[in-house]
Amino acid sequence: MRIGFGYDSHVFTDAAKPLMLGGVCIPDAPGLQAHSDGDVLIHAIIDALFGAAALGDIGSHFPDTDERWKGADSGKLLEAAMGEVRAAGYALGNLDVTVICERPKLRPHVEAIRARLAQLLGVAVGQISVKGKTNEKMDDVGAGRGIVVHAVVLLTP
Ligand code: MG
Repeated sequence: MRIGFGYDSHVFTDAAKPLMLGGVCIPDAPGLQAHSDGDVLIHAIIDALFGAAALGDIGSHFPDTDERWKGADSGKLLEAAMGEVRAAGYALGNLDVTVICERPKLRPHVEAIRARLAQLLGVAVGQISVKGKTNEKMDDVGAGRGIVVHAVVLLTP
């Protein structure tokens, strides 16, 4: 078995852009600055998957200097990452994600995000955990400037 940890953070943008979290469009907050669709939650998961399999990181597979990934649907990147992990001989045991932000409130969206991630990863919803927290108003995340995500995955043979 292999464990992997992933982290990502993005700042909210003033540009008219939808907020994508875990492959779900969230209507009650601004979008995130990024070369791709800015799905910070999926980016953390991708790094956890590549980390667990010792296959590098999101930047080495999908560089943000590459025009192919401009405005990219991070769901597609997640499917590609899971495909590489499977090709290396692993299956997803479980995934646990913590999202830290003052906005949006995550709880109303958690079940939709779990269902979408399970679909993208080809696993059961019971293998996916998504938890939301605030930063108790501390620092820039606490001031509501952006979103931080931590993800842990376990890969099985
Ligand atoms: Mg990112």
